[in-house]
Formats: sequence, C-alpha cells, structure tokens
Amino acid sequence: MSFEKLSLIAPILRALETQGYHTPTPIQQQAIPVVLQKKDLLACAQTGTGKTAAFSIPILQLLYQEKQTAQAPDRHIKTLILTPTRELAIQIAENVRDYGAHTGLKHLVIFGGVSAQTQIQALRNSPDILIATPGRLLDLWQQGHINLRNIRQFVLDEADRMLDMGFIHDVKRVITKLPEKRQTLFFSATMPAEIAGLANSILTNPVKVAV
Ligand code: AMP
Repeated sequence: MSFEKLSLIAPILRALETQGYHTPTPIQQQAIPVVLQKKDLLACAQTGTGKTAAFSIPILQLLYQEKQTAQAPDRHIKTLILTPTRELAIQIAENVRDYGAHTGLKHLVIFGGVSAQTQIQALRNSPDILIATPGRLLDLWQQGHINLRNIRQFVLDEADRMLDMGFIHDVKRVITKLPEKRQTLFFSATMPAEIAGLANSILTNPVKVAV
C-alpha cells in the first residue's frame, strides 16, 4: 500500500515525501478514502497510530481542490479541529503546516493560558483551518471574533479525553454553533457509553474504523 494508491494529489504527495512517509499506517489506509468521499467517520485510535495525518491529509486535499475550483476567494474558516490540550493543538498545527506546505492553505491554532490578543489578530488573516481547544474557542466566539457558520469539516480529536478533562459540556456547546450540514470526523481512543452517545448524536451514517 502506498499514498499514491489513496488518490492523493501531487502537492500532498510531495509534502509526504519531504516528511519521509512511505507507507500509510492502518488508520490512514482506512480513514483517508472515507474522508475524501466526504463521509462521516467514527475512529477508535490512540495517539501514535498516525491519526493526525489520517484526518489532516484528506481535509487538506478537499480544501485544496475546492479552492482550485472556487469562483471567488472564500475567507471563511472551513475546517474546525477541536482537541483537548494545548500540546495536542500545537502538534496538530505542525502536522497541518507540514502536510499542507504546498497547498497554500492557511491554518491557525488557538488555546488558552496565553494572551488572546495575538490569536484575535491572527484570526483576521482568514485561516482556512482552525485548530482549537474548547474553552478558548468559546471565549473568542462569544467575543465575536470567530464565525463557525461555514464549517464544512469538523474534527473531534481525543473525545474520551475531553470527557476525562471535564470539557464535554464545552464541546457540546461548540457543536451547537456549527452548521447541521457538515462532515464530522470523530476520534477517540476508547468508547465509554457517554462518548458513544455523543458520537451517535453528532454523526450521520458514519463509517467505523478501529485500529
Ligand atoms: P499521531 O498518532 O498522529 O500522533 O502520529 C504519530 C507519529 O507518527 C507522528 O510523529 C507522525 O509524524 C508519524 N507518522 C504519521 N503517519 C506516518 C506515516 N505514514 N509514516 C511515517 N510516520 C508517520
């Protein structure tokens, strides 16, 4: 199995080559085609399985292809990736930067515990992809700095950890701000009843993958 076989486009393949990735991991083999088909995904996968690339790579491809065919530039945030910690948010942002190096797509990472001012400033630069922790996202949304009405892809990363860390209420609030018509990718290492229930309530006919 190779990345070429997954129908990835040249700008992405070039970036993966730079990264030294030769073979997609099992979660990538299963998830990338599902995401490219714009289907919802329920993935049981831990950190270390290559799950970040499994959602980032196909999302970058979808956004790149949309940008190529768009009549006019679209300055809205199109993808929201919600993750529980600042460290994970930074790691995802670095991966998105690397995999998207030749796409011209813009991303921004926001998290709490630091001044919001720089983040607010950066939001004016119209990122295509927003990577965020739930609390800071809600803060900046409430202050009117973030418009989530044009989100096409929503990724919930480490859902079970959101629950453990007490963020699940914030996550549910964020979801109420998103358009109903969207693609949702749900990642969790474990599926306790409350997480399975949340997945059930926000996914539409999801393809289920487990690694
Ligand atoms: P993750 O599970 O997303 O935290 O990724 C774990 C690590 O595997 C990261 O350091 C990635 O850069 C790396 N990685 C992800 N996919 C691949 C791949 N197909 N080949 C080699 N390394 C990879």
